[in-house]
Amino acid sequence: MENTQTTITNNIPKEVTMVLAVLQSGGHEAFLVGGCVRDLLMGVKPKDFDITTNANPEQIIALFPKTFYENTYGTVGVVTCGEEGLPMCSDETVKIVEVTPYRLESTYSDNRHPDEVEWSENIEDDLKRRDFTCNAIAYNSITGEIIDPFFGQKDIKDKLIKAVGNPDLRFNEDGLRLMRAVRFMSQLDFGIHPVTRESLEKNAHLLKNISRERVRDEFTKLLMTDFPMRGLVIMKDVGILEQVIPELLNGIGVEQNQAHSFDVWEHNLRTLQHSADKKWPLHVRLSAIFHDISKPETRRYSKEKNEYTFYGHDVVGGRVTREIMERLKFPKEMIEKVSMFVRWHMFFSDPEQITLAAVRRMISNVGKENIWDLIDLRICDRIGTGRPKEEPYRLRMYQSMVEQALKDPISLKMLKTDGKRIMDVTQETPGPKIGFVLHALFDEVLENPEKNTEEYLDKQANLIMKLSVEELKALGEAGKQEMEEKNKEQVKEIRKQFKVKGD
Ligand code: ATP
Ligand code: MG
Repeated sequence: MENTQTTITNNIPKEVTMVLAVLQSGGHEAFLVGGCVRDLLMGVKPKDFDITTNANPEQIIALFPKTFYENTYGTVGVVTCGEEGLPMCSDETVKIVEVTPYRLESTYSDNRHPDEVEWSENIEDDLKRRDFTCNAIAYNSITGEIIDPFFGQKDIKDKLIKAVGNPDLRFNEDGLRLMRAVRFMSQLDFGIHPVTRESLEKNAHLLKNISRERVRDEFTKLLMTDFPMRGLVIMKDVGILEQVIPELLNGIGVEQNQAHSFDVWEHNLRTLQHSADKKWPLHVRLSAIFHDISKPETRRYSKEKNEYTFYGHDVVGGRVTREIMERLKFPKEMIEKVSMFVRWHMFFSDPEQITLAAVRRMISNVGKENIWDLIDLRICDRIGTGRPKEEPYRLRMYQSMVEQALKDPISLKMLKTDGKRIMDVTQETPGPKIGFVLHALFDEVLENPEKNTEEYLDKQANLIMKLSVEELKALGEAGKQEMEEKNKEQVKEIRKQFKVKGD
């Protein structure tokens, strides 16, 4: 491999080496295995480390001060650091290192669960049950020994996903591996071995038998890779997208209007890809892939416009998104959020007509905390059309209007007194004088915010009230003007911040 021993060693936290060393000095075999070995060999820092050993769970537990035992697969979680009696963690991700005895899997009668899990004395048995050759390498980082019976190192070098053993059998054992193959292609930017690919196509239907929760988790991982567009195209090509989100396929070949270079399918994908390019979070990526899901069924040809229209695709799309996400068992909050974004994604499409009142309405529709995500979705949507990039000017205009709508206007409400209180403290009857006093007080507070206390304002109200009506009026009007000025300045400030013109 191109990656030197030093790069590899630097990517292994000391806690992990400690667990290996303790197992080995206890007289057992112990190896790093699975995704972490693949990542290390590729020069990537693994996000978690799995260790496999010929020790049984009792023997593992006996070697470490603090462990917990997850019974199903014999996995023991070793707490390595960050707790009483243990050293500080060099890296939070290795606080718990999972150690699993070598496993041997026998028969699968339901395409997903091994009928029984047996332990083995032999590392090769454990590697044999793993999904792809790149994930089936064991590495003893203390001695440098690598066990690679399926030539995973070569496939990593050739950037190929290849099933361990007979792909048909392996996909039949666990249909989720179909999705995993595609996810790894996307995540690692790998191609696929032709025999494995053929088998993917042949066995695509097996995904039906897999629990929606497992499918959801793999789909989520795929969306979170750097190239989710590529993953979805492969899913379509091999026939597994049909088993997961057939609705997306309806967009294939659905031509759009002049604002778009692509059919609905490709537009959805490119919108998603842009959200990944921006490293935006899952809910934005899900909204991106689903935002135009209902364009196919709402498309009409308009003679007047001489174009297609898609009226209502946002409303229908919000509903369809909810159905899809419920089917895939996404958590409730995620469903709410994403279907809401799909429902309201059209808002920023008409910049000529956008008013501050409309922006306020939208903020109340999606909530203050979500408005910037909606703008991010809008950015992806626009890039996804394949037409000239989001005009930076227009985008900044939206942003400045949102900022303006979010900022409370400068108003008498900010004052720590009101008309009623002024009448109480000054014993004055209702009339224009009260308004003049309020504005005069506010003017003072604008100059000196620290004067905004009930105590000061009560005292000051009494003083001002002694002036003549004319004097009061003059003061009040000057105050009002000042408030309007300040509001204008605030807007100007925001526009300047977003580098847009206007007043
Ligand atoms: P990632 O870096 O995304 O975590 P990973 O390779 O670690 O990738 P995991 O899902 O964490 O993937 O699985 C860890 C290892 O367990 C895999 O590398 C593989 O060897 C094995 N494995 C996981 N799921 C399966 C499966 N369904 N069938 C066979 N082997 C599997
Ligand atoms: Mg992993």
